[in-house]
Amino acid sequence: MKELQERIQKDGIAVNEDILKVDSFINHQVDPELMEHIGEEFANHFKEQGITKIATIESSGIAPALMTARSMGLPLIILKKQPSKVLNDHLFQTEVSSFTKGTSYELTLSSKFISEKDHVLIIDDFLANGEAATGAIRLIRKAHATVAGIGILIEKSFQPGHEKLVSQGFDVYPLVRIGHMQAGQIEFLES
Ligand code: 5GP
Repeated sequence: MKELQERIQKDGIAVNEDILKVDSFINHQVDPELMEHIGEEFANHFKEQGITKIATIESSGIAPALMTARSMGLPLIILKKQPSKVLNDHLFQTEVSSFTKGTSYELTLSSKFISEKDHVLIIDDFLANGEAATGAIRLIRKAHATVAGIGILIEKSFQPGHEKLVSQGFDVYPLVRIGHMQAGQIEFLES
C-alpha cells in the first residue's frame, strides 16, 4: 500500500536492524485518515470470505482493526493481554512471548464474544516472529472458531513470521513489506 509505505519513509524510525518505531502515526499518536484507508484496503482484500468478526491484540492493532471492522460492518473483538493465567470457565487463554518486550503474557478472550460459528479475520500492526498471530490463532481455535486470514500493516520479511504462517496455509496479507533495516534506513520489498 503506497500511502502507508510513503508514511513509513517519512515518519518511521528504524531504531536498529530489528525495531521500527511508528509511534507518531500508528501506535501512540494515531492518524485516523490513514487508518480509514487501511481499513478499506483490508475490507476490499478479505470481502468475499464469509468473515463474521475482526480480532486484534491490544493495544497497537486496535486502531486499524476498528477501521477494518467499520468498513466491513462487523464487530471487533480485542484479545487482551493479562500478566498471568486467570482461572475462569468463561475465558480462553494462551501464553504468547512478546517480541518487543522480551517477556510473555496470557492472551485472553471471553467466551461471550466468540463461538464455533465465527470465521475471524486477525489484524495486527507488525508481523515479526509470528508469535502474536500464532497466539491469536490458538485462542480462536480454542473457541472452535475458524481463522479467515491475517491482515498485517507492516511485515518485517527478514524475520520468520510470514513463512511460519503461510506454511500452515494461512492467507497473510501485509500492506507493506520490509526486506532490510538498519539505524536510519529502511528497504522495502514489493508487496
Ligand atoms: P511477533 O509476535 O510477530 O514476533 O511480533 C508482533 C508484535 O510485536 C506486534 O503485535 C507488535 O506490537 C510488536 N512488534 C514486532 N516488531 C515490532 C517493531 O519493529 N516495532 C514495533 N513498534 N512493534 C513491533
